[in-house]
Amino acid sequence: PSKRGGGGQGAGVRGGFVPPFVKKAANAAGGGGEDEEGVFSAKTLQMLAGPDGEMPEALQKLDPKLVEQVCNEVMDSSANVRWEDIAGQAQAKRLIQELVVWPMLNPHLFKGARAPPKGVLLFGPPGTGKTLIGKAVASNIHATFFNISASSLTSKWIGEGEKMVRALFAVAQCMQPAVIFIDEIDSILSARKSDGEHEASRRMKTELLVQMEGCDPNSAERRVLLVGATNRPEELDEAARRRMPKQLYIPLPCEEARRQMIDRQLGPGAGVKADLSESDLLKIVAKTAGYSGSDMRNLIQEACQGPVRDAVAQHASAVASLSEADLRPIVLRDFQMAAKAQRASVEPAEVARYIEYDAKHGARY
Ligand code: ADP
Repeated sequence: PSKRGGGGQGAGVRGGFVPPFVKKAANAAGGGGEDEEGVFSAKTLQMLAGPDGEMPEALQKLDPKLVEQVCNEVMDSSANVRWEDIAGQAQAKRLIQELVVWPMLNPHLFKGARAPPKGVLLFGPPGTGKTLIGKAVASNIHATFFNISASSLTSKWIGEGEKMVRALFAVAQCMQPAVIFIDEIDSILSARKSDGEHEASRRMKTELLVQMEGCDPNSAERRVLLVGATNRPEELDEAARRRMPKQLYIPLPCEEARRQMIDRQLGPGAGVKADLSESDLLKIVAKTAGYSGSDMRNLIQEACQGPVRDAVAQHASAVASLSEADLRPIVLRDFQMAAKAQRASVEPAEVARYIEYDAKHGARY
């Protein structure tokens, strides 16, 4: 019999490797584990159980499998983003700090008429830093960050979306303060009643709206903030808009922001050598009008490959022994070549759509 097999045989977890889905009850020594349903992993217990070692009541009512998945796949404990890490977006950063960060830091001051919204919506093209902003909020208020995309809620947890939403908010509440970031939120909270709208997705939408209603970052019991992101803000229905009254446009990076991205990725400390004059930089910045933040990142990465390719061509057999010192600096030509591989991914027509939406619904600051 195979040494590795036995996936379904439960218990047989020998050696150091613990497959993520093998759940060990804290007290199930020796693991009788016929069926591991109903048992939380030691890691999850450690994270969520109270001082008495018991799971909070709210979580005991949930499907442990979903709680595990929230902890393992949705909770993002690596999120540590500073505001300075986000190039440009000065207005959005300022507004979001006033709107949600300050109230989370000082709930006593921000109550009543100063009470923060239950959620905020970030809209704009893909790759402009919406997720980064969600992470920065969480990092700033020392909150646990949960990151999920609506498409994974509908595709990965088919039919269980509603329960997953409930599990997500329940775990977030136990780990509060918490920030829940839901990407593509329009696909759950869409106003469209498409023919194909299944009962399951309607129930998920209702559940999300109910949970959002309960998100009161101002209340001592529930310091959970929802940050929704979308590329299609016009699809949201009224109930969703009411719960996310502030809708912030996160546009493509301006010239200055693109310049910042280059400076940071090629600057001192970045570990690469570049030889770019001021006029080269101005050319790159001008040439990248319409690029998103992630387009910029890809472009710069591609340009960084230029010197490596040249070095490899010169010493064909020595790839493994090349070091940064063997490489020529990155020059304008590398960017010119890279721009052929990485073009702007957002269509101007799409940008025009956001601008129009922003004029009507965007938060002003
Ligand atoms: P979105 O959520 O808007 O689709 P992300 O925040 O996930 O975009 O950004 C994707 C990647 O692009 C980031 O991890 C980062 O490398 C880069 N990026 C995008 N916008 C910015 C920005 N404003 N400043 C720095 N990097 C950015």
